[in-house]
Formats: sequence, structure tokens, C-alpha cells
Amino acid sequence: MIVGLTGGIGSGKTAAADRFAQAHGIHVVDADAKSRVVVEPGRPALVQIVERFGDAVLLENGTLNRAALRELVFREPQERLWLESLLHPLIRTEIERDLASAKSPYALLVSPLLIESGQYQMTQRIIVVDAPESMQLSRTAERDHVPVEQIHAIMQAQTDREERLSHADDVITNDKDLAALHAQVDRLHERYLVLLSGASE
Ligand code: ATP
Repeated sequence: MIVGLTGGIGSGKTAAADRFAQAHGIHVVDADAKSRVVVEPGRPALVQIVERFGDAVLLENGTLNRAALRELVFREPQERLWLESLLHPLIRTEIERDLASAKSPYALLVSPLLIESGQYQMTQRIIVVDAPESMQLSRTAERDHVPVEQIHAIMQAQTDREERLSHADDVITNDKDLAALHAQVDRLHERYLVLLSGASE
């Protein structure tokens, strides 16, 4: 069983996934990390991106300047589509390969864009981590040392809370301390084990 885990910026996805991994030994795949792997130097996708957009999308050390690329495709829907159709299948392959190596009873796919990217199709259940917007703002500002206005702008661009929640099979409400978050993860883990034992009977 693959369980997808998503949520808005600073909602607590990483904190929840860490609990699944550390307390229960669950194999966690990070979709964000995979999206960086496929454009590493030496990968064919980086060559194709440079062919299309020029050297301006490279940093001096030869790695992808993600901010420059984002800026270039931001107002060009056709270019964005081109980029997505190049990268999405590659990211999907990386995710699938990693998920296939899981030894735990189920695996977790953590993705901020689980729903928007279609990655949810690889999962059998979806967890949404939900936190009040004021907490998303304050926790992210503290973690990243960036102004709340900047985080607010990212939140405005993300899928809104209600829409995201409408896709959830399970919701983790992260509006208290970490112990409360961990307790919810532990309960879900137990529920998944029960589900799996039922499925294998
Ligand atoms: P992003 O989408 O930006 O990657 P995220 O959803 O993975 O964020 P986390 O990094 O898990 O969110 O959480 C944001 C910050 O808030 C982190 O510094 C984390 O340690 C902290 N945090 C998360 N949950 C709690 C909590 N219940 N109590 C206190 N701090 C928390």
C-alpha cells in the first residue's frame, strides 16, 4: 500500500513523515527530492532544459538555477507545459523505483503537489496535514528566517485548504505541539496495519 501525504507550506508534512519513519520504520519517499534529482548535472533532462532556455538557467557550478527557470516559465504557459511534460514522467519513474524498494508494510509518498501533479494516482490513500494558516506562517517564518509576507504569497498560490481537504482519506490536524502530531501519526499507523491485515485475509 502506498499512502500519499500532502499539505500546504509549513503544515507539518516533514514532521509527520519523520514520525512515520522514526517511530514505525515506514519507508518515506520525498517527491520534492526526486524533482531535484532528475535535473542534476549529467542527467539528460538538464541538457534538454539548457538547449531550450540557454545558459541563463545554469549557475556557475553547472547546476540548475531553479529560480531563474521558474521565472522564465512563470508567464509562459506553453513553456511551463513543455517543462512539466519533460519532468513529470522522469520524477514519476524515480518515485516508483524508490517506492518499489520499500521493505515496510506500507510506504509513504510525501509531496506538496500530490494532487496537482497527479502523483496521487500512485497512492491508495491520501493523508492531508492541516494547520491553521497563522501557524503555517509562523512556523515557516521561524524555520526559514524569511518574512511572513513571502510565505503568505506562496500560500496564496497554493491550492486552498478546503480544496486540499476534500481529497483526504485521513486528516492530521497539526494545531498543537509535536506530541499531539505524533499521537495522530501513531493512530493512523495502527489503522493502516489493521487495514493491511484485513486486506491480506
Ligand atoms: P514545507 O512545505 O515548507 O516543506 P512542511 O509541511 O514539511 O513544510 P515542516 O517542515 O514539517 O512542514 O514544519 C514546519 C516547521 O514547523 C518546522 O520547523 C517544524 O519543526 C515545525 N513544526 C511542525 N509541526 C509542529 C508542531 N506541532 N509544533 C511545533 N513545531 C512544529
